[in-house]
Amino acid sequence: MATDTDPNFQFPVSNFNHPREACGVFGIYGHPEAAQITYFGLYALQHRGQESAGIAVHQDRRIHAHKGMGLVPDVFDAAHLAELGGGSAIGHVRYSTTGGSILVNAQPFVVQHRGRFYAVGHNGNLVNAHILRAELEAAGSIFQTTGDSEIFLHLLVRNLDKGLDPALRETVARLRGAYSFVALTSRGEVIGIKDPNGFRPLCVGRLNGSFVLASESCALDLIQAEYVREVAPGEIVIIDENGLRSIPGPRADHESLCIFEYIYFARPDSTIRDANVYLMRKAFGRQLALESPVPADLVMPFPDSGVYAAIGYSEASGIPFEMGMIRNHYVGRTFIQPTQSMRDFGVRVKLNPVKEVLRGKDIIIVEDSIIRGTTARTRVRTLRELGVKKVHMRISCPPHRFPCHYGIDFSTRGELIAAGKSVSELKDHLGLDSLHYLSIEGMLAASGVDQPDQVFCKACFDGCYPVDFDADLTKDCMEIGQ
Ligand code: SF4
Repeated sequence: MATDTDPNFQFPVSNFNHPREACGVFGIYGHPEAAQITYFGLYALQHRGQESAGIAVHQDRRIHAHKGMGLVPDVFDAAHLAELGGGSAIGHVRYSTTGGSILVNAQPFVVQHRGRFYAVGHNGNLVNAHILRAELEAAGSIFQTTGDSEIFLHLLVRNLDKGLDPALRETVARLRGAYSFVALTSRGEVIGIKDPNGFRPLCVGRLNGSFVLASESCALDLIQAEYVREVAPGEIVIIDENGLRSIPGPRADHESLCIFEYIYFARPDSTIRDANVYLMRKAFGRQLALESPVPADLVMPFPDSGVYAAIGYSEASGIPFEMGMIRNHYVGRTFIQPTQSMRDFGVRVKLNPVKEVLRGKDIIIVEDSIIRGTTARTRVRTLRELGVKKVHMRISCPPHRFPCHYGIDFSTRGELIAAGKSVSELKDHLGLDSLHYLSIEGMLAASGVDQPDQVFCKACFDGCYPVDFDADLTKDCMEIGQ
């Protein structure tokens, strides 16, 4: 039987209705308890990736790493952390968008080149990975993994003769797509890099004189680090014994921070680019209430990831907020998927309605997104069977009609239920009395960000991809997105 230490271990795949994030990264320079701090940082970032976790620590000009399949507490115990010890460290939690969910693809990747060690952890997706990999392999590179992140190290070591800073600059000049990297050198330098569009978040914090890097500020809160700033698009930051130095890199014409980080991925207690996620979700809910009012007895999240938008909807509409469905928080990855004849059990084991709150009511259910629509229909039917009179659904983002190629796990239009159905068809398909999505204009206005068109990627809603990768999809933008 395959186990999580077996290199061929495959993470059990279930039929998720929600998209999954592609990874979380963390780094700390020169701390006596670097492994412990990184462990807690990864704990705070667990929502960004649950397939594998890893920590690499620099000590005595070497880099030691421990990685495994599963959640952070499954992969590390006290003995691992004690063995890894202190120094400089980087950490990674992974959900795979390229490369299989196997131990060999777990990060950070560590390599040895001319007697020196380097490690990297990556959040994002390189859209030119296939070209770079083919080129590197033709030149003799041997790849250890099937993901795109290893390419960074292959390019880096080829340029190191010129020195670290030029090597980093030349490496990132070859990369296209979404990347927030943390890297570690055999001199203990900790490096943070963000792509020129700034697709994925990466922030800098300070802890007892050390600098830290994290995908989200919630990780800084947990380790009681002070938030300093977001790494700028295109920027390389290098942390060493002299502090933090910044190498400004090429910036795209405008920023393309993934707006879906605010809608769904990021933790609500995180602040990205000076905007708090919780407050923005509430603002999306308020805007949704203004755009699509409907009389009802109560507003509820559906399930609990829509809770902040539902609070906003309730505040703006004056309709009471209730928790009409209760989530079982203890359904782990070992949950055995039921047979077809017992399929409703699969939904009910995770979510159970509160009959006394719902029966005989007209309700508005607020969801943050519908990606594949695999579970929403069953949940609506459950509500009907309970005696709910009217079921209205409000979605706190626009319809997902286009795939994401920047690190989120819906990479084909066929996976997206809204790509093949109109809103009216989807309402009927889900068995709803009404269905409304937040408009793109409303979403941008509610973000509260100045010139949001110059700040956010929204390609999965309008098909206008900020980094070109495929001629056919650029055509989609022109024909459908505009
Ligand atoms: S396409 Fe959508 S999910 Fe992907 S980066 Fe852009 S906004 Fe985010």
